[in-house]
Amino acid sequence: MNYCDVLLPVPLTGYFTYRLPPELATLAQAGCRVVVPFGNKKTTTGLIVRVHQTAPQDSTLIIKDITELVDTQPVILPGQLAFWEWIASYYLCSVGEVFKAAIPGKMKKVAKKKIKARAERIVINDEGIDLLGEKIPLSSSLMPQLPVLSPAQQSALDSIHASWQQHSVCLLHGVTSSGKTEIYTHLIAEALQRREQVLYLLPEIVLTSQLTTRLKTVFGDHLGVYHSKYSDAQRAEVWMRQLSAEPYDIIVGVRSSVFLPFQRLGLVIVDEEHETSFKQQEPAPRYHARNAAIMLATRTGARTLLGTATPSFESYYNARIDKYGLVKLTERFGQVQLPEVEVIDIKELQRKRLMQGAFSPALLQAMREAIDAGEQVILFQNRRGFAPSVSCHVCGWVPRCPHCDVPLTLHKRTGHMTCHYCGFTAEIPGRCPACENSDLRGRGYGTERIEDEIQKHFPSARIARMDLDTTRTRTAYEALIQDFASGETDVLIGTQMVTKGLDFERVSVVGILSAETMLNQPDFRAYERSFQMLAQVAGRAGRRQHRGRVFLQTFNADLGLIRQVVSNDYEGAYQEQMLERRQFAYPPFVHLVTVYVKHRHLAVVDALAKEITLRLRASFGTRVLGPDEPPIGRVASLFIRRIMLKLEPGLPMPQVHELLSQLRKDLLGMKTYASALFYFDVDPLS
Ligand code: ADP
Ligand code: ZN
Ligand code: ZN
Repeated sequence: MNYCDVLLPVPLTGYFTYRLPPELATLAQAGCRVVVPFGNKKTTTGLIVRVHQTAPQDSTLIIKDITELVDTQPVILPGQLAFWEWIASYYLCSVGEVFKAAIPGKMKKVAKKKIKARAERIVINDEGIDLLGEKIPLSSSLMPQLPVLSPAQQSALDSIHASWQQHSVCLLHGVTSSGKTEIYTHLIAEALQRREQVLYLLPEIVLTSQLTTRLKTVFGDHLGVYHSKYSDAQRAEVWMRQLSAEPYDIIVGVRSSVFLPFQRLGLVIVDEEHETSFKQQEPAPRYHARNAAIMLATRTGARTLLGTATPSFESYYNARIDKYGLVKLTERFGQVQLPEVEVIDIKELQRKRLMQGAFSPALLQAMREAIDAGEQVILFQNRRGFAPSVSCHVCGWVPRCPHCDVPLTLHKRTGHMTCHYCGFTAEIPGRCPACENSDLRGRGYGTERIEDEIQKHFPSARIARMDLDTTRTRTAYEALIQDFASGETDVLIGTQMVTKGLDFERVSVVGILSAETMLNQPDFRAYERSFQMLAQVAGRAGRRQHRGRVFLQTFNADLGLIRQVVSNDYEGAYQEQMLERRQFAYPPFVHLVTVYVKHRHLAVVDALAKEITLRLRASFGTRVLGPDEPPIGRVASLFIRRIMLKLEPGLPMPQVHELLSQLRKDLLGMKTYASALFYFDVDPLS
């Protein structure tokens, strides 16, 4: 009798054994998809991990037949499953959850004929090298086509090569507009010449268009794009092509592209490596794509380059302790100076009654000069909507989300109040339900409100807004970028989206409307994040020819952080934070695991959180902190509690992970807690 162990896209540990009908026994092999019965009369698509003849030990088990064999050739490469298993064990989830995240949705539904037909052409040997693969002729003119590097860029490139002699990971710390992309381009061309594949990872939010256009002009058809805003079908195509004899040599993609099959990966570039969107929050696997990519590169013997103007403190630390190589690029391309940052004290201006809404006179003046001169302006306000909350001017009543512990955000364009956590939407009430008064007002400034006010100040200016609400589709996002790049827009107002590695040549003024939004977050990374965000948004100014000007409005003009942003003192910000993190035991000096518990009933969530804490204390003692209620203690009708584990280096992590998994299994096995959500966030970013 033939059996196969099947990986299913479910949050359960282990593989599931099915019977293979005799007629399929010779066709089925590890890596092929199968449709199998699972649960109540349902079927699901899984992946064969092993074909064997061993009947399951437990004779009471009813072994079902597979329903269908989808492929006759594997749809993953050797080594990929082991990588998924590593992710699952490190991030404390099931391999099934990794499988679910890894494979394009379309490939998990019963595959279409077209995709099947492609799969059948593929032959893969044990080392994952395509046997049918003829050498793909690389355009010999590829290297002449490349931009000539400046002496500083060339020396950085040489240093990267030197660094790779010692370390497989190199951190390129290059100031904004230093021309990191051109250095990447040279590295990619070199890799292609060695017939190696390249994975170029970008943060989710940069929808890759600017960069892809730049790279496409050099690499043309060698380059494939893999992004969540592409259709499932497009992503399935890319996946299948990576298995074929003619895979893309370069994949530009967001975090999930670490799961693509690579037959001969030689180089991984993680651009804007500090970006927190590389960490997946929801659902599992809650993996960090940068770290997963480093692991992937290690497994395949590829080199990794992390690039950024504002390294994550973890990566910088790794470079300082010589775990990674470090290369610095301290000048902008074309000898353009870094922008001049002017600090504007909002408190003082308010006292003198000189603020005009959210704007200081100096910022408005600079905007006027820029617009008159045909230059462009970027305004940064890290809140979308019209106003972050609404309140009754008479009694102070604030409309809140009925399902989450947050006030509702006012969106004037849609005429609604919306919860940014669960999406709940309500009409703006005509009267205050508490005092019957009709004087309800928006509190604070969101991007919509900034847009309205700027339109009043500059009636003839062409204004655009870039936030989650205006970039729901890829085309909408690309149109915004395109219009701004071509000078169709004078002022671009945006949330943190405008900080993400965009390159516009005519921006002479950047206004940061309030520097503290990030800093007030109750998070040990608030300082680091604020520095990164401010330095990045400032870096959008004056990228070509003229020195740009940045107006940094703040309520805390004498904060050390503000001084560090003004003088672009990354090192100072880093050193200061390292002292604190060492003293209070935060990463990189410890390894964090956050335990999350959620339930509709407060009593259940509290009891479970206490039980977990108690049991964890038995094994981990004072390394266990909590339980506590997060700043937003209820989201989508679920109460939330957290327990934090601070694990010092040197603990045997596999055992720790084993212990945690077992604890979860035990507690969820109890009737009282069976309906609770209980998960781990390893190396959490928030
Ligand atoms: P970074 O990614 O470091 O912020 P970019 O790679 O976007 O910087 O480069 C900044 C600008 O300088 C871009 O417009 C780029 O085209 C230009 N540039 C950089 N290096 C070169 C080069 N070697 N030759 C021509 N233009 C360059
Ligand atoms: Zn009221
Ligand atoms: Zn809500």
